[in-house]
Amino acid sequence: MIDTRTHKVPTVLSIAGFDGSGGAGIQADTKTISALGCYAMNVLTALPIQNTQGVRNIYDIPTDAVREQLDAIFDDIPPDAIKIGMVHSVALVRCINDYLKHYKGPVTFDPVMVSTSGHQLIQEDTIQACIEDLFPKATIITPNLDEVSVLVGHTVQTLEAMQEAGTTLISMGCNAVLVKGGHLTSDTLTTFLVQQSGMTKSYESSRIETQNTHGSGCTLSSAIASFIAQGKTLEEAVSNSLDYVHQAIQSGQKLRIGHGNGPLNH
Ligand code: PLP
Repeated sequence: MIDTRTHKVPTVLSIAGFDGSGGAGIQADTKTISALGCYAMNVLTALPIQNTQGVRNIYDIPTDAVREQLDAIFDDIPPDAIKIGMVHSVALVRCINDYLKHYKGPVTFDPVMVSTSGHQLIQEDTIQACIEDLFPKATIITPNLDEVSVLVGHTVQTLEAMQEAGTTLISMGCNAVLVKGGHLTSDTLTTFLVQQSGMTKSYESSRIETQNTHGSGCTLSSAIASFIAQGKTLEEAVSNSLDYVHQAIQSGQKLRIGHGNGPLNH
C-alpha cells in the first residue's frame, strides 16, 4: 500500500476498455501499474463483455461520460504519464485528443484493433482518426504485427518488413514506434523500437509455449507508461517493460484460469 501522504508516487492514467474477466484492458493496466510501484487511475472508454474465451458484445461509453471522467482525474490528480488503449470510435478519438491538447506529459498509445480471440475492437473509420489525432500526440505507439499490417496496408511478417513498417509509421507522424514481434512464428521473438531520429533498436526474447497471453499488449503499454513516469528513458522503459511482460507470461504459463486464453501473472 502506497502512502501518498508522505511521499509522491508516480501517477499513471490508463484510458482504456474493460475486461471483467481480469486479463486485459483497464484490469491488466491497473495490475501492471500497481505492480511496478506507480499509482493507477482509469478512464473507461468502452464496456466489452468478455472472458478468456472471447468478446461477446461491446457497449459504448458516451463521450460526455469519458470527458467527465477525464475532468475528475485532471482536476484532482494530474497524471505523470498516460496509457491509451481501446478507443473504438471516431467520436472517442476526437474527444480524447481534444482533451489531451494541453497535456504535455508522456503518452503511450496501444492501437488496439483485434483481440487474441479474433474479435474486432475498433470500428474501421476509427483507424484513420487514430492516425491523424493520436499518433502525433503519442510519445510511442505499440502495435502488434496484425495492427502494423493494417496500418501500413500490407502483411508484415519478416524482420526486414517490421523495420520498414516502423519507418513508414514514423513518416506517418509517429514519434516512436514499437513494432512488437509477439505474433511471429519463430522461436526467437524480435521487437523493434524505431524512433524519429532514425535510430532503431531490436530486442529479442524466447517464445513461451502457453495460451495464457490475454492482455499482454495492455500489460506492455501500461508498463512502458509506468517506467516513463518513474523517469526512465524511452529505451530503458521499453526494455524493462518487455522483460516485465516476459516474466509475467512465464509465471502465468501454467495458470488455469478460464477455458480460453488465460491472463498473465503479475
Ligand atoms: N479487451 C480490451 C478492453 C483490450 O484493451 C484488449 C487489448 O488491448 C483486449 C481485450 C484484447 O487483449 P488480448 O489481445 O491480449 O487478448
